[in-house]
Amino acid sequence: MKIAVIGSGIGGLATACRLASKGHEVTVFEKNDSPGGKISEINMEGYRFDTGPSLFTLPELVEELYGAAGEKVPATFAYKKLDVLCKYFFKSGENLIAWSDQQKFTDECVEKLGEDPSNVTRYFKSALLIYKITADIFLFNSLHKVKNLLKFSVLKSLLQVHKIRFYKTMHEDNKSSFKSPLLIQLFDRYATYNGSNPYKAPATLNVIAHLENNLGAYFPEQGMYSIVKSIYELALKKGVRFNFNSLVTSIDIKNNKAVGVSVGDEKFAFDSVVSDSDINYVVNNLMDHPQKKRIERLEPSSSALVFYWGVNKEFPELDLHNILFSGDYKEEFTNLFQEKTIHNDPTVYIFVSSKMVKSDAPKNCENWFVMVNAPSNSKENWDELIRATKQNIINKINKSLKTNIEDYIEYEKIASPITIEQNTLSKGGALYGNSSNSMFAAFLRHPNFLKSVKNLYFVGGSVHPGGGIPLCLASAKIVANEIPAS
Ligand code: FAD
Repeated sequence: MKIAVIGSGIGGLATACRLASKGHEVTVFEKNDSPGGKISEINMEGYRFDTGPSLFTLPELVEELYGAAGEKVPATFAYKKLDVLCKYFFKSGENLIAWSDQQKFTDECVEKLGEDPSNVTRYFKSALLIYKITADIFLFNSLHKVKNLLKFSVLKSLLQVHKIRFYKTMHEDNKSSFKSPLLIQLFDRYATYNGSNPYKAPATLNVIAHLENNLGAYFPEQGMYSIVKSIYELALKKGVRFNFNSLVTSIDIKNNKAVGVSVGDEKFAFDSVVSDSDINYVVNNLMDHPQKKRIERLEPSSSALVFYWGVNKEFPELDLHNILFSGDYKEEFTNLFQEKTIHNDPTVYIFVSSKMVKSDAPKNCENWFVMVNAPSNSKENWDELIRATKQNIINKINKSLKTNIEDYIEYEKIASPITIEQNTLSKGGALYGNSSNSMFAAFLRHPNFLKSVKNLYFVGGSVHPGGGIPLCLASAKIVANEIPAS
């Protein structure tokens, strides 16, 4: 079959590899001049920055992709397990190292925060249980196929569904799990891994702690963009054709069946179409969608304001991943999702890939990716908000690290919800499709297919099972399994 894939985000790339490996003739249409979508890089003035994702979990999903393509994982895609998941700097002055070794982490929580060790152990066991109950239903299969819901394993999981505490929020659940308010804040932060609000998102999302703390966090030896580079090379090897600088302007549908795509005036005939484009872009620009109104009403996930700084000094107190927490987490999320603005004491994430990839910065320098959560774009006065937020971030860094960071910044580039939307066409620059700020979010996410239009499939972070690299890879597998081999 001739299959078109719209978009070369990780979901589109992985689907293209899987379908080409099943004997299909696959062509990817990408509006940008390079693959990767939200996973991209900047090379400037001796610095290299990963511009999007920095946290990498479930690397076995990439390996599985190679396996499905009948290929070995290449040496260019080597990765390491992290010993330190993250360094946390709290507003009240405490610092905490989240070791991947759970005993060391527990000891740290007891020593620095006075937490009861059994609470930490119980929490990780509970996160594992949520994963066991939910993974098959919500992550690795279509949620919209009756046959999947009738599987024995799924029925067994459904009997235990009360244990995933979907009726409580993440914050409520974390509050009842820990004594230390700082640990509650630490585990609430996992809501931001899919762009949500821990004071609204269901406690089921505490499963995210399982991925990082029980299964481990990893980092590719050549940085995050090497994930895209290696999957792109795999796609080329499998015969996938790429048309860059090609914005698809419509999905062509005849007699309720996808028959091709158009790029401006040019029409291309295909037997099937897979869209990795944000579902909001699809319903507004590419087709008449029967559920357009419902989809538009869903709340987007958060976006980000990112400063890429070339820093001509080394900071041994920082690790690969670092968090400088806000003093008022609740207010930060109220600002983000209700007031659609950035808190004046935002939680600051600093990711320094040159701690692991030495060539990412000149000698004695570091490449800082400094990110705060931002609302998806809804016509904020961004110039003023960016200026004020930058100053708030600088003040916070200076206080936490006892430095004057402005003296050391020799390169700067900025990404905002506006530029993220322009580059990837995701609604308002949302990082993870729709938010999970309700217990029904998983069910409201768009399916990977459409009953009313045959041969049309949907992949990537804005559809089932959701955003983030692992879930996009899972969506690619679900879609490829829907399309029989050629
Ligand atoms: P996208 O990356 O959204 O790409 C879609 C592609 O399709 C784009 O290249 C776009 O140009 C193209 N396209 C769209 N419409 C058309 C069209 N009509 N014609 C042609 N081309 C089109 N995830 C993690 O797992 N860990 C993290 O730490 C993490 N941090 C993040 C930080 C930032 C700053 C950002 C931006 C994202 C982060 N994410 C993270 C989220 C993760 O990057 C995304 O969930 C994932 O990469 C989305 O992949 P996707 O397949 O949905 O495609």
